[in-house]
Amino acid sequence: MNTSETVEMELVDFHCHLDLFPNHLDLIRESEALGIRTLTVTNAPSVWPRNRALTANCNYVRAALGLHPELAIERQNEITLFERYLDETRFVGEVGLDGSPRLRPTLQIQEHLFARILTLCAQRGGKVLTVHSREAVSRVIEMLGTHLGSDRGKVILHWFSGTKSESRAGEAAGCYFSVNVRMLQTRRGQELVSGLPPSRILTETDGPFVKIDGRPSMPKDVAKAVKELASIWRISESGAALRVRENLERLLV
Ligand code: MN
Repeated sequence: MNTSETVEMELVDFHCHLDLFPNHLDLIRESEALGIRTLTVTNAPSVWPRNRALTANCNYVRAALGLHPELAIERQNEITLFERYLDETRFVGEVGLDGSPRLRPTLQIQEHLFARILTLCAQRGGKVLTVHSREAVSRVIEMLGTHLGSDRGKVILHWFSGTKSESRAGEAAGCYFSVNVRMLQTRRGQELVSGLPPSRILTETDGPFVKIDGRPSMPKDVAKAVKELASIWRISESGAALRVRENLERLLV
């Protein structure tokens, strides 16, 4: 019974980096075959054309146009490519800010790029953004309010690691939260998720950065995050999977 339940669950992996896996194409095919609603994010606009081409005929896999805050210095000139490609997709990511000690010296350029990205998205309207906010949650939420506005785009805070009050600020700003198994296996992550409305939760793997059993996690591994959510919400795994899928459908309306 467990097996059939697993097979029938329609999963959502709304933040992974399939283009960083050597078997990129196989993973796209696997998400298609298993019906996993997959958002494969990118880290620099120059890789967008290949990602767009490889997902163009997919039913379940979508690619996002991104400029990762960790690459702000090296890739800042690609903001012109970001602008050029933005009309080709509804999905934007990975974008955001990283205020951790190693990247704090680059925050000024990160903020400059993120402000530009948000402004471009606000001009277009209707974009869905998956946003990195490590050690910069308050600033990210502030910039979303200043440069995007909740009526001009939808935001998913990916791998959210802020405080409870920051999570409430994100909730008030209309954000969704995509959670992965690594977060959900910590007490802090469990407490954060249990304090958020279940209607705002999506699942992700963030593979290949998150590892499972010593190997990069793949979209189908998102079932492990669903299992953790089921235990936090005290419902069945298939009920948790259904809830996440309904959340995604509401987000994409
Ligand atoms: Mn990521």
